[in-house]
Amino acid sequence: MRREISIYVHIPFCEKKCAYCAFNSFCADEETKNEYINLLCNEISCRSADFNSSLNKAVVRTIYIGGGTPSILNEEQISKVINTIYNSFDVYDNAEFTIEANPNSITEEKLKCWKSLRVNRLSVGVQSLNDKSLAKIGRLHTKKDALEKIKLARKFFDNVSADLIVGLENESGKDLCQYAKDLLALGVKHISCYLLEVYENTPIFSMIERGKYSPLNDEQTISAFHKLATYLQDKNMQRYEISNFAFDGYESQHNLNYWKRGEYLGFGISAHSFVDGIRLENAGNIEDYKSKKITTEKLLSLEEDEEKIMLGLRCRLGFDISSLNKIDIKKNPYFTQYVKDGILIISDSNQNLVRLNPLFYHLSNTIISNLFQ
Ligand code: SF4
Repeated sequence: MRREISIYVHIPFCEKKCAYCAFNSFCADEETKNEYINLLCNEISCRSADFNSSLNKAVVRTIYIGGGTPSILNEEQISKVINTIYNSFDVYDNAEFTIEANPNSITEEKLKCWKSLRVNRLSVGVQSLNDKSLAKIGRLHTKKDALEKIKLARKFFDNVSADLIVGLENESGKDLCQYAKDLLALGVKHISCYLLEVYENTPIFSMIERGKYSPLNDEQTISAFHKLATYLQDKNMQRYEISNFAFDGYESQHNLNYWKRGEYLGFGISAHSFVDGIRLENAGNIEDYKSKKITTEKLLSLEEDEEKIMLGLRCRLGFDISSLNKIDIKKNPYFTQYVKDGILIISDSNQNLVRLNPLFYHLSNTIISNLFQ
């Protein structure tokens, strides 16, 4: 059987930095973008030659172009990147191929171009459908833009996902349910719901410090998330991962591969790869990236076990006790207690399969860290 991999490509450019953003993304002129695209294509072709020989000619199951804002690239730039992937790797005809897009940079011409390049899934950064809120967090689009662009995108793509942020100022669970309703009415098949995370050195951090922004507190955020999650599940979406909801058959195969610890190759600045049990991380800025700086890390058995447990408990599938090498989880007193309390559920059909009861998803961080004590 051929070895299967996923590919991630990082496009770090954005039109404007959002107030809450801590990702590796920045504004750049066309010259910088073109220079980066050349470096990126060069990395894809050079590294593919090595990987194809060492991986016994791997075949690609999923491709994900993320950022930053990949939709900011013009048709020529994105075509160059995607054609380089096709020229460097064998890709399944039915591979899932996602591109991230922001409403303000989606155009009909770009949608046509992406479709012609075999992109078949769009992940749109909606975040909120409240104009005041969008302006405060520095988004460039309005509610009207987001809904119009999703409607347009749906003419070209069946599989459209939208991101929402939970915890923004004055945005209750009821508001979030209304946003979800508007998105589902347009045929969105997948919704990712992220909690607002406030990092130091972001504009929103100082806005909060100066009393200019009041995100929901923890209790309000949990309650809003719970309302939204209940609403989406009532609409027949499956919560297949803590933050992700999808109709059957529309789960993100690319993310599932990460969570199942499948192999992947990442290209571009800050991109991560995971091959042969080794993690690689590309340099985080263009200058170091030019000189091909890559950090490698081999996970120890214990760390691997912890990762299996952590990733497994985030997903509906859970983790397999028999796959652990070092950790004897059944001897962990927290594990025993959590199973007794119904917080962890052992599968009826396979006594080695353990998953987190969805009612306790909001406590996942505490539960996981207790299991590692
Ligand atoms: S569009 Fe996304 S990556 Fe770009 S600044 Fe905003 S949150 Fe960050």
